[in-house]
Amino acid sequence: DSVFAHVVQAPEDPILGVTVAYLKDPSPIKLNLGVGAYRTEEGKPVVLNAVRKAEHQLVNDVSRVKEYLPIVGIAEFNKLSAKLILGADSPAIQQNRVTTVQCLSGTGSLRVGGEFLARHYHERSIYIPQPTWGNHIKVFALSGLTVKTYRYYDPATRGLNFQGLLEDLGSAPSGAIVLLHACAHNPTGVDPTLEQWEQIRQLIRSKALLPFFDSAYQGFASGSLDADAQPIRTFAADGGELLVAQSYAKNMGLYGERVGALSIVCKTADVAVRVESQLKLVIRPMYSNPPIHGASIVATILRDRNLYDEWTVELKAMADRIISMRQQLFDALQARGTPGDWSHIIKQIGMFTFTGLNAEQVAFMTGEYHIYMTSDGRISMAGLSTKTVPHLADAIHAAVT
Ligand code: PLP
Repeated sequence: DSVFAHVVQAPEDPILGVTVAYLKDPSPIKLNLGVGAYRTEEGKPVVLNAVRKAEHQLVNDVSRVKEYLPIVGIAEFNKLSAKLILGADSPAIQQNRVTTVQCLSGTGSLRVGGEFLARHYHERSIYIPQPTWGNHIKVFALSGLTVKTYRYYDPATRGLNFQGLLEDLGSAPSGAIVLLHACAHNPTGVDPTLEQWEQIRQLIRSKALLPFFDSAYQGFASGSLDADAQPIRTFAADGGELLVAQSYAKNMGLYGERVGALSIVCKTADVAVRVESQLKLVIRPMYSNPPIHGASIVATILRDRNLYDEWTVELKAMADRIISMRQQLFDALQARGTPGDWSHIIKQIGMFTFTGLNAEQVAFMTGEYHIYMTSDGRISMAGLSTKTVPHLADAIHAAVT
């Protein structure tokens, strides 16, 4: 008998499992709105032109070798990533108070940051929004932190529960870590306004809480890299400390290249050097050092004016297509006279709409219309096209009437 005979079958990942179910469905009208990846109008994945050109340059450069990178990755990639998120004129960068390490996309950056905090920070509690990206809970718990939640979403308004958020962070223990989605909150699509961000910042600083930003969608939400980074930049501008996990999965379409960065903004340059030395001790036994290819693509694009400009145009086009899908879906429901207020579809931001549909309605839409999404009613607007909007609108209409 196998020594593993006692191993029980694990459940599918609640998000990635949606695609597994979708792939098994033979229906020609099936629609996958579970996946958090951009699709074209034709429903196809896309490689950006800026990425193709950068890869071309890399392949043709015969001086490039496949040696191991340093534990912290490509130095230039790290510098350019910090600039991208904190701003080219960031005082913290100029004062050498930021340490940045290349990590395995957003997830790996969160995990390295979580483990560093578990080893070297005095407070174990990390407060994550309710709800949040499901993986946050597991990433931080396995990092050795104690995961708690703060109120975030109000189902009644399908908007922000700002009062609840302030109350919960206000009663968190001094020093607690607070996970904040930098923009395009997943799964709700609900972000604080800049005025609300300012109140959150004041509360966090007055209670000496430690902000940890998850930036998985910079530029993907509004179409502007600067606008989407604004909340983080106002936190950095007050001179206080913070962490930020960056992902290039969505905004450069580099999903499977697993390229991201963890930056820790410290009070002094001296602290930043010591923090980096400890980040290396977290990384070395975990995966030794990061892969070359994705970070080389990113560095090639970020250092080159023309490629950078081409990227920002392509990024804006992706964001705009998603925004236009919101309008089309909203209009289609209006046209059908679907009961209820659906204005949250156009008010929410980023890749996802938190429809408000319940698990039963989702199951109905999957069963009767072959539409796949997570059971919390989250749909990926990026998986939608002008052609498929009517089918989705029909399904939603049938599910709620
Ligand atoms: N954080 C949030 C909020 C996300 O939605 C995602 C991806 O869906 C990630 C982090 C991490 O993605 P990746 O590890 O592919 O960069």
